Amino acid sequence: MSTESASVEERKNVIEQRHREAASEAIPEGPAKLYVDGEWVESASGETFETRDPTTNEVLATVAAGTAEDVDRAVAAAQSAYEDEWADTSARERQGILNEIAGRIEGRIDEFATIDTLDNGKPIRESRADAYIAADYFRYFAGAARRTGGETVPTESGKHVETIREPYGVVGQVIPWNFPLLMAAWKIAPALAAGNTVVLKPAEETPLSALELVREIEDVLPDGVLNLVTGFGEEAGAPLTSHPDVRKVAFTGSTAVGKEVMKAAAETITDVTLELGGKSPVVVFPDADVERAVRVVMLAMFYNTGECCTAGTRLFLHADVKEAFMEAFVAAAEDLTVGDPLEKETRLGPKVSREQAERTLGFVEEARELDATIHTGGGAPDDEALAEGAFVAPTIIEGLNHDSRPVQEEIFGPVEEVFEWTDYEAMIELANDVDYGLAAGVITEDLDRAYEAAHDIEAGTVWVNQYNDFPPGMPFGGFKQSGIGRENAAETLEHYTQTKSIDIDL
Ligand code: NAP
Ligand code: MG
Repeated sequence: MSTESASVEERKNVIEQRHREAASEAIPEGPAKLYVDGEWVESASGETFETRDPTTNEVLATVAAGTAEDVDRAVAAAQSAYEDEWADTSARERQGILNEIAGRIEGRIDEFATIDTLDNGKPIRESRADAYIAADYFRYFAGAARRTGGETVPTESGKHVETIREPYGVVGQVIPWNFPLLMAAWKIAPALAAGNTVVLKPAEETPLSALELVREIEDVLPDGVLNLVTGFGEEAGAPLTSHPDVRKVAFTGSTAVGKEVMKAAAETITDVTLELGGKSPVVVFPDADVERAVRVVMLAMFYNTGECCTAGTRLFLHADVKEAFMEAFVAAAEDLTVGDPLEKETRLGPKVSREQAERTLGFVEEARELDATIHTGGGAPDDEALAEGAFVAPTIIEGLNHDSRPVQEEIFGPVEEVFEWTDYEAMIELANDVDYGLAAGVITEDLDRAYEAAHDIEAGTVWVNQYNDFPPGMPFGGFKQSGIGRENAAETLEHYTQTKSIDIDL
């Protein structure tokens, strides 16, 4: 064995050992169960599935696979909890509970972060940020719970017309794997704040932090108010989102599945909030400060290994700055520390699974076949010690036709696609020429230009000279096929309540 291969072997062992130790500390032993009506129960079928660590490809835990029967029980429990207790809680009580949940998360940031890093592969500094932000969302909605009110409507004398906002009752929620704890918080916090009860299905790839959250807060909530049904999309997600007693569905995931969810909701005329895919443009203007622009684009593209619905995957560079920008951008991408996500220096971890890494690389292959230029990346990183993991090197591609599949579809990995522009109108037309409209970035020192572009781009959120900033209170959601509804803001509570008008003849 050569010295070099020995050191690869050694480093691989160090990573595996580190992950096994972290897993044995952070993840409870034994198969994880469903949480229904305040009890930990096996799935009705007795079936389970495995969730893996995408860095080492080792099994982290076995988890109960819920099916329609479990969903029925969970919805019935949520219904009873709503009718018996939760509907009568005051906003003040719910505020207290949500603040308590926030405190519980803040008290265990490291454990939650470790679990998400093991289960999803995201760098530990990012999963720590997720945990802090998750706690902050609970605090935000704890406060917002106190402000949901109605209005009085001017009318004839002798009459009094007023509106109140009432919760729906049972809310069914389904979340993806890219921000496991954070997506759970985005869903649970506003639903409970508004006075609903919840049945949540986490993604099969990353169920562990939601399980840990429920374990941590089970003594805080009355039985049945929050239920967790782990399992597969078809088997547990579909029965939940089409359940006749679920009065409100909130789904985050791909546009393809979002369409199925919306169709199913039509059967029972159920209200839906959909947070779906994206293919967001980032526009760099000729006056942009190159160093700042590179910083913003690195964050827009490579944060969370490109597994962000908001990822700024279509980069529109003005011809005047392109050369200087590309030189610095390619160097920055090659400099990004790719490696074990449990190490705090790591900036790019593996994708969530081998299957997802292959999907991303399939798009890169297609770009190659279309004769695109791959400026950097385009495969797994060179480091053999990472060979077991689902790693994809930071990749920058240029020369694709904007109509081609790799440009039009969401790649959901660390793959940037570069376009050069000179004519503003033509650039805006291309920037808007996708089915999605989730987010966008604009980089310029000129505020007039920034405003003009922010108005011209069809997107739910436009970041100027920054990216991926989500202050609670700022509405987030998609235009076009990126979704319906806005999360993280005061108006989110409107999505989780319905208006009742009361008209009195005095
Ligand atoms: P996905 O395949 O659509 O899955 C999302 C969730 O839906 C998972 O829990 C999945 O279960 C479940 N599901 C699958 N089929 C279902 C069905 N027929 N009925 C009900 N639920 C079903 O998406 P993903 O691959 O996990 O996540 C990536 C996608 O999410 C990307 O498109 C990304 O842009 C989007 N996303 C959007 C936002 C946003 O706020 N707009 C945020 C984050 C992610 P399984 O786990 O068993 O498949
Ligand atoms: Mg996993």
